[in-house]
Amino acid sequence: MDYQRILHDAMEAARPVLGHGRVADYIPALAAVDPQAFGMALATIDGEFHGVGDHETPFSIQSVSKLFTLALALAEGGDGLWKRVGREPSGNPFNSLIQLETEHGIPRNPFINAGALVVTDVLHTLTGDASGAVREFLRAEAGNPSIATDPEVAASESETGLRNAALANFIASFGNLDNPVETVLEHYYAHCALRASCRDLALAGGFLARHGLRSDGSRLLTRSDAKRVNAVMLTCGTYDAAGDFAYRVGLPGKSGVGGAILAIIPAVGALCAWSPGLDTAGNSVGATVALDYFTTVTGCSVF
Ligand code: GLU
Repeated sequence: MDYQRILHDAMEAARPVLGHGRVADYIPALAAVDPQAFGMALATIDGEFHGVGDHETPFSIQSVSKLFTLALALAEGGDGLWKRVGREPSGNPFNSLIQLETEHGIPRNPFINAGALVVTDVLHTLTGDASGAVREFLRAEAGNPSIATDPEVAASESETGLRNAALANFIASFGNLDNPVETVLEHYYAHCALRASCRDLALAGGFLARHGLRSDGSRLLTRSDAKRVNAVMLTCGTYDAAGDFAYRVGLPGKSGVGGAILAIIPAVGALCAWSPGLDTAGNSVGATVALDYFTTVTGCSVF
């Protein structure tokens, strides 16, 4: 398959919608990004790499980091995690408090903010440095030692993150955080504010296409856990529009309000598209169009 040409055509398919949607500005430091930016990269499991547009431009990975915290927490600590966070779609916005009370502080899934705070707590207990663990994993898989937290974005999130603070305190009131609320929030913001490119994320997501194997051939997740993480991505990875994303793209995907979507084609590769304009659910408009084009033309989907 001529992936380079297909990525180029996917970018052309997305071009008419670049600048559509809204750039996330509830985290003030995120609003500075160019709304016309677009990048896309594919890293296959047999070492091919293709990229188009701004695929080497670093951006704020935001909730795409939640995929890596989940994988690392499962790798380090195993299945006990699922006693503290569920795996059902929430049907509510990513920062909603609504279900936490009736569900006794057990968040619906690891990809809404409440769930990601619990996973960050689990990973911090296991490693002593949750955000550092995510950063080092990304650096190693992408072969890029310059991946780091953007201190301005992390500070901006911390200053304006009243709702995340409310979520963390509420979860802690049910006894579902082991570390101090401030520590959990600090590490959560630090991994959301990591800066990486489409290239970096496509390479770092490869373990999910390789059924749990890292780029050096060592095993991060069991085959079964890799399948499960992909399944949770498919059902919960794109906010409360996961049904629409599955319908259009047909791949497990994790999006972030920085405009990236990382999608996994099991046994083929990992694909990352980035464009900052978001739809009302918080998913990148341009990235979704490009991924939709890619899977439609190649037939590479899980369905
Ligand atoms: N750090 C962001 C927040 O907590 C992540 C949002 C997202 O990408 O979904 O609001």
